[in-house]
Amino acid sequence: MIIQLKQDITERQKESLIKEVNEIGYKITEVKTQLGDYLVGIGKSDFDIRRIGQKEGIEDIHIVSDEYKLVSKKWKAKPTSIDLGDGVFIKDGDMAIMAGPCSIESEEQIRKVIQHLKDNNIKMMRGGVFKPRSSPYAFRGLGLDGLKLWYELAQEAGIKIVTEVMQVSQIEEMYPYVDIYQVGARNTQNFNLLDELGKVDKAVMIKRGISGTIEELLQSAEYVFSGGNEKLILCERGIRTYEKASRNTLDLNAVPILKAKSHLPVVVDPSHGIGIRAYVPQMALSGVMSGADGIIYETHEIPEKAYSDGQQTLDFAQSALLADQIRKTFAMRKTFALL
Ligand code: PEP
Ligand code: MN
Repeated sequence: MIIQLKQDITERQKESLIKEVNEIGYKITEVKTQLGDYLVGIGKSDFDIRRIGQKEGIEDIHIVSDEYKLVSKKWKAKPTSIDLGDGVFIKDGDMAIMAGPCSIESEEQIRKVIQHLKDNNIKMMRGGVFKPRSSPYAFRGLGLDGLKLWYELAQEAGIKIVTEVMQVSQIEEMYPYVDIYQVGARNTQNFNLLDELGKVDKAVMIKRGISGTIEELLQSAEYVFSGGNEKLILCERGIRTYEKASRNTLDLNAVPILKAKSHLPVVVDPSHGIGIRAYVPQMALSGVMSGADGIIYETHEIPEKAYSDGQQTLDFAQSALLADQIRKTFAMRKTFALL
């Protein structure tokens, strides 16, 4: 159950409400986000909602049978829109494009990517400064100094930054320089990290875990929301299956399912999803057709020289073509009544 509280609810009204709901058999967690105050109730669901619906201080009340509550569409049918400022949104009915290298490597590389993004009217740049690598000997990123440099150049160009946060201690130091914190697939169930991201007022994009279910992804988002941050984006980036011919199995089934279950925007990452450069464009376009609200992909001036994930990274010509085709495919999707 989710009880949305009125902004002007008094402490006494709230206490009385919690007492009554406890008596009915619900355990209550209070949640305060940038946008609202909620009581999330976990307990039996068979009671007459009218019993408390009339109490003072309640804006709205919903029974949500899903395991996750606040990210469920059952209480909030209106899709969540993420506003990054300067007219940049990630939202239902729109097509966000996020592109950039796997890793931030140098000032020159950042400048080149930014120029490429500007040339193609792409407003969000992805890139890692803290890189989770399977081998400890691989390039692990330029760190905070790299992020500061990137931020300066991105600011000048009016480009938003999407970058991975790997641990709790990085949240605060990164805060002034990021627009979207990315939670990587290896950290989707790092509940300490998710709890702490609940305390910041900045967008968070949560990638699906390497072997994570759709339900688990939604529960991870629930952690951040219940911690106080509603600015959430879900990302399908492929899961590990028995299939070895591709890096991961991009589960495009997840897109319509997530969109049906949750009010949060959904982004598809075809680069990590298939892991093979030549096939990234078709999976990106399939992602658009699956109903995604955005596509995130890797691009680099010379993919063969990229410090990480070069095998799945598009060069600028391929990226320019793809960005154009993403927009055309999205325009076509909008003409289909089904989607
Ligand atoms: C990345 O975006 O470069 C990355 C490491 O992604 P994931 O966490 O999905 O593997
Ligand atoms: Mn990568």
